[in-house]
Amino acid sequence: MTTATYLPSAPTDPWRAHPTRIVSTVDETPGVRTYELAFEEAGIRAGYTFAAGQFNMLYLPGIGEAAISVSSDPDHCGTIAHTVRAVGNVTDALARLAVGEQVLVRGPFGTPWPLDAVEGRDVVIVAGGLGLASQRAAIHRLSRRDDGGRTIVLHGAKRPEGLLYAADYDRWRAAGIDVRTVVDEGDAFWIGRVGLATHLLADLHLDPAATTILCCGPDPMMVGVAEAATNRGVSTEHVFLSLERNMACAVAHCGLCQFGPHFVCRDGPVLRYDRIAGLMKVPQL
Ligand SMILES: Cc1cc2nc3c(=O)[nH]c(=O)nc-3n(C[C@H](O)[C@H](O)[C@H](O)COP(=O)(O)OP(=O)(O)OC[C@H]3O[C@@H](n4cnc5c(N)ncnc54)[C@H](O)[C@@H]3O)c2cc1C
Repeated sequence: MTTATYLPSAPTDPWRAHPTRIVSTVDETPGVRTYELAFEEAGIRAGYTFAAGQFNMLYLPGIGEAAISVSSDPDHCGTIAHTVRAVGNVTDALARLAVGEQVLVRGPFGTPWPLDAVEGRDVVIVAGGLGLASQRAAIHRLSRRDDGGRTIVLHGAKRPEGLLYAADYDRWRAAGIDVRTVVDEGDAFWIGRVGLATHLLADLHLDPAATTILCCGPDPMMVGVAEAATNRGVSTEHVFLSLERNMACAVAHCGLCQFGPHFVCRDGPVLRYDRIAGLMKVPQL
């Protein structure tokens, strides 16, 4: 991987939503669909960039906006992908749209995964369920690394049909990525591991001084992973979590996503564990 500076991208006008068209969709897992979007304005299409881990606000006029990670390759922004679970107003309405229909996009926002600080280090991506969507852009980039560091993806889901991007695993493995999966509960066809993502982490041979952990999933899972990693000697400065909190403005004005002194939309979603370890243990923060 090159060491080119990999700073977050920012929209020129963070309030302006730009029209896109859905160019294709992929049904990933039950209730989860990836939407490939193309900006309609040629200038935006040519100039839009994002960094792995950042998110957009997807806007459906008359319905509302939802924060959604960009899940495509940051080095190919001709179209951008978002992987979405239908859980409420905006995401349910999105699920009713067809290819060719319009979605407005505001962004990109937030902090990225620290890919400019992993040169030569082993990177362990730990993903619970849909958390992998926020990490897929990083996996795209890491699949091209040539700096000697290992990339390991540990992905847990409740059930086998919930494993995200299963069609990508062979390609990731062919690029040298060690992909391991685990499910809470198997089925008649599951011959893989049953357990938690932390069990996969426990299986790994780690060089703690040369390992960076990138984790996204439910809060208790992220705390479990962060504690397991730091107990094995990985510095809290090399553990990064991507937080999900309700958001509205995405520009640190409204305060909806406030997390202690942090606005998750601006200071996150990716935050270094040493800065948030105490806050992660405060119930319902
Ligand atoms: C940085 C970031 C990145 C994200 N990336 C993704 C992603 O890649 N993919 C993805 O699918 N999601 C992602 N999310 C989560 C997504 O933004 C939320 O799920 C969002 O709320 C969906 O918007 P909605 O309008 O569809 O749902 P909402 O209508 O806001 O509903 C969301 C949840 O709240 C519940 N709810 C709604 N109204 C009420 C009420 N009155 N009382 C109690 N409960 C209620 C719903 O049942 C549902 O469980 C991300 C969030 C953040 C902060």
